[in-house]
Amino acid sequence: MPSGVCGANEADYHVRRAVPGRDFAVHRTGDFRNAREGDRCPRCGQGELRLGRGIEVGHVFKLGTKYSEALGAAYLDAEGRERPLLMGCYGIGVSRLLAAIVEQRHDDKGIVWPAAIAPYRAHIVPVSARDETQKRVAEALYEELARLGIEALLDDRDERAGVKFNDADLIGIPYRIVVGKQAGEGLVEYTVRADGEKRLLTVQDVIARIREAAAAT
Ligand SMILES: [Zn+2]
Repeated sequence: MPSGVCGANEADYHVRRAVPGRDFAVHRTGDFRNAREGDRCPRCGQGELRLGRGIEVGHVFKLGTKYSEALGAAYLDAEGRERPLLMGCYGIGVSRLLAAIVEQRHDDKGIVWPAAIAPYRAHIVPVSARDETQKRVAEALYEELARLGIEALLDDRDERAGVKFNDADLIGIPYRIVVGKQAGEGLVEYTVRADGEKRLLTVQDVIARIREAAAAT
């Protein structure tokens, strides 16, 4: 740099035509700004830097010969010379993966699990835990789904319906079955968590729908 502009330890005041070595000693060099969209490659001056957001769900590390040298892990090359192994390691963080999925699949009420990785497929909510008919229908539904190999969560807590619905939204199980006043007529409310659409269906129709969805994922 034959002639530079540098700070003068005072706001909005700069020293112009400064020559390093003549006007000041250089003690340390470094990067003076952050990378920006559109920057060229610092090595070859080609290309254009594009910025994007990402979620780190795993790692790839090149370990080189650090550990193989320390532990004496070697191989013989074509000339019969002993060489240290080049090592790498790779890993996907399972808990990070779950956090990343939730970050992508949620709404303001809570999680919206994709069916393929949901902890349960169906969430059965009897509106009143004290209503004998609702209790009987909910439990029969639970048993039938279990018999078909479909895991369901049965909310048999003695809580207000609103509390149970909010918790169901928060937990985000893909299919919700609300067993309410019409349970005695064999009708229950079926909701898909992803779109919130509610349908009043017969118990057999709900089971058929959940089986169909399970077969597709
Ligand atoms: Zn380059």
